[in-house]
Amino acid sequence: MYREVDGPILKRLEEISGPKSVFSDPETLNIYSHDETLGLSYPPEAVVKVTTSEEIQEILRLATLENIPVTPRGKGTGLSGGAVPVYGGIVLSCEKMEKIIDIDRENLMVITEPGIITGELQRTVEAEGLFYPPDPASVDSCSIGGNVAEGAGGSRAVKYGTTKDYVNGLRMALPSGETTSTGGKVVKDVTGYNLTQLIIGSEGTMAVVTQIILRLIPLPRLRQDLLMPYKSVDQAARTVSEIIQAKIVPTAIELMEQNSFELAETFTKRQLSFRDAAAHLLIALDGNHPEALESERDRVGEICERNGAYDVLVADSRLARERMWEGRKCLFEAANQMGSMYKSLDVVVPRNLIPALIRKVNETSGRYSIRSMSFGHAGDGNIHVLLFKGELTDERWSEVIDQAQKDLYGQTIQLGGKITAEHGIGLLRKPYLSMNLDAHQIELSKKLKRAFDPKNLLNPGKIFDL
Ligand SMILES: Cc1cc2nc3c(=O)[nH]c(=O)nc-3n(C[C@H](O)[C@H](O)[C@H](O)COP(=O)(O)OP(=O)(O)OC[C@H]3O[C@@H](n4cnc5c(N)ncnc54)[C@H](O)[C@@H]3O)c2cc1C
Repeated sequence: MYREVDGPILKRLEEISGPKSVFSDPETLNIYSHDETLGLSYPPEAVVKVTTSEEIQEILRLATLENIPVTPRGKGTGLSGGAVPVYGGIVLSCEKMEKIIDIDRENLMVITEPGIITGELQRTVEAEGLFYPPDPASVDSCSIGGNVAEGAGGSRAVKYGTTKDYVNGLRMALPSGETTSTGGKVVKDVTGYNLTQLIIGSEGTMAVVTQIILRLIPLPRLRQDLLMPYKSVDQAARTVSEIIQAKIVPTAIELMEQNSFELAETFTKRQLSFRDAAAHLLIALDGNHPEALESERDRVGEICERNGAYDVLVADSRLARERMWEGRKCLFEAANQMGSMYKSLDVVVPRNLIPALIRKVNETSGRYSIRSMSFGHAGDGNIHVLLFKGELTDERWSEVIDQAQKDLYGQTIQLGGKITAEHGIGLLRKPYLSMNLDAHQIELSKKLKRAFDPKNLLNPGKIFDL
């Protein structure tokens, strides 16, 4: 269906990007055959590490002329197989496009290339007293371009929203090789359809993002981080609902079941908190006025204690804060190193239904005798569930895993939720998309994809089949 990347094509790629930026050796192809999603691997035929928008345009022109699939890639930390080149072809890696083009202090905006690591971008603007809030747990390894393409979330979404709330404009290369810009530095803009928001979360299937304008806000001066161990997951989950009902909006409310905490302890080789707690809540607060922050912290502490927290531990130094978060941030990496096959879910429900969702996860995994682990952004109603193969035979695992996922997705949808909050559909959740979107939405989405990419060359095989 697609043309192979043969000698003449490799030669053309080298003419466009220079021989040092084009790779076709097995070792490199193997590295770029997967992202951080366990069990998905498809090698590309070539990898090009581009440094300019012009190269991207030239490569897309060549791909269109020769009918070659192109998969854009940031840092390869995706958890739904988005950057995995299912049909081979060219992986177009933006990892070297890592320049911050401008920090506009008058308009509170930053213009950046897509390949910069999100944490680096955050630290650069923070040195200027500015704040880019979206904070995926992979912040020190993922790229801002990947965040835009996935519509990434993170722990601070409770208070500050996700990537989509900060992207003010995009420059992008279309599959034809032409470029276009959307949005800009303006605060308001209803000039035509909102193509910026259409591209956010489009998983590299419509255009390659080459430049991003991000809105910034003033950096809060103070923060406070709290860790609470609980006797039961239900108590921790109820605390989350009660905090929100009390009209307190923390920066982050993360929940970890006991087995996820044990995994973090094994991975970090550090005892992180109460060993016999069934769940932990990790809460961050921020603000500019010490008294207001202290009063908020005390109110949160009271709610936690009223709901059965064993203790309210307050981080009193930067090191203590980093240690509190270390356990939460390492969980996907730790799970990948466990050596057991697992499937990860990224379900989201209205946040008052978090206790119900967690109960359903535990009932369902129990019914299929699958070991599960839940953790995540409870304050957003977004829980990551890992379903482990563990001791199940290969046969039993393949019998039950699809049905268990379907059951959990069905229950999430019944609670008014969605099958993915921030990790995307990619390849992993493609079979379940029609459970959550009706036929009209899927057909409209396919028409939009075709309008951008009539030859289906950009990241084909993702989200849905055309
Ligand atoms: C330990 C760990 C923790 C994580 N925690 C979170 C979390 O808290 N919240 C969250 O939302 N995600 C999280 N993730 C998932 C992942 O980090 C995000 O999806 C991130 O946005 C991916 O960025 P990336 O640069 O690695 O993109 P990649 O994995 O390289 O690509 C992701 C998608 O973006 C597309 N893409 C990349 N660059 C471009 C571009 N320039 N133009 C067009 N398309 C492009 C690719 O084609 C692909 O579809 C986590 C991952 C790990 C491993």
